[in-house]
Amino acid sequence: MKAIDLRSDTVTHPTPAMREAMYRAEVGDDVYREDPTVNRLEQMAAQRLGKEAALFVVSGTMANLVALLTHCGRGDEVILGDRSHTYMFEQGGMAALGGITPWPIPNQPDGTLRPEDIAGAIRGDNVHFPRTRLLCLENTHNMCNGAPLTAEYTAQVASLIHGRGLRVHLDGARIFNAAAALGVDARELVREADSVMFCLSKGLCAPVGSLLCGDADFIAEARRARKIIGGGMRQAGILAAAGIVALEQMTGRVAEDHARAKRLAEGLAQIPGIAVTPPASNILYFQLTDETTKTQEEIVSGLAERGILLLGRLEGRFRAVTHYWIDDAGVEKTIQAMRAIM
Ligand SMILES: *Cc1c(COP(=O)(O)O)cnc(C)c1O
Repeated sequence: MKAIDLRSDTVTHPTPAMREAMYRAEVGDDVYREDPTVNRLEQMAAQRLGKEAALFVVSGTMANLVALLTHCGRGDEVILGDRSHTYMFEQGGMAALGGITPWPIPNQPDGTLRPEDIAGAIRGDNVHFPRTRLLCLENTHNMCNGAPLTAEYTAQVASLIHGRGLRVHLDGARIFNAAAALGVDARELVREADSVMFCLSKGLCAPVGSLLCGDADFIAEARRARKIIGGGMRQAGILAAAGIVALEQMTGRVAEDHARAKRLAEGLAQIPGIAVTPPASNILYFQLTDETTKTQEEIVSGLAERGILLLGRLEGRFRAVTHYWIDDAGVEKTIQAMRAIM
């Protein structure tokens, strides 16, 4: 029996079409820019996000790090959300490897940063201070209920930042989920960002990879930053081939995952002892209430015995993420299992 794996959308295996494309991929040495499949993926990604150029990297973490190393020098400062992936889950790579200081400001429950908090964190010219260089946003926001940031919000904040001569980087790991949740083209959500990254390896099902997009000069510099951290790849077309299939076949279907997250939320909300936060995209958070004496451990292990995996997360919350390999039957089975355990 195959597990119903709701831990993350990173657990998605490549589709049969991806494996076929990987098998047939034309390849070359990508450090010499001679891999035609990587070149094609980078062009497609840039075009899909309305940017001049793109760079294929191994992970979302690497894409964010390369972006930060490109925008900032040693001693520079970055403003970002205190619940952002870059601040919480990337080992402080900007500081560890780049000598860049983070200034975390509060993420609101909808994933936004308040413009007044951003303005308050921009440093003045003073010999005691680091120099503010960059603002990072996250769309959709992983820890904030998978909430999408609107194009209007991003433009408003970008205009504040650009007005102060600074830049905006967007962690768009799930930017196509944001586009589907808001019913807009992804280009509109990233138009005002100076750089944006998205992941192929999450809901889009590709086995490996993320793309960093921006203008041509920025991407040329980012290519150097990728190389210095050991991210130059050779016949990477094997991986890029799956990414091309992801862009061609998978970005248009993620709304199905959002509908299933919603159905799962509705089903779980009927069970006494569970409090559900209505999901904004494919990420569903819920928690136990005082009505139950069950522990988080009992729930996680009870589900695992029934072939269902999810994360018992930080702060007493559970996280379930829907994706390509979770069908309607998997959702119903999860609701029934939870009812039985409770
Ligand atoms: C997953 C994720 C990343 C990092 O991607 P990896 O490929 O796991 O390194 C960055 N930002 C957000 C919002 C993510 O969800």
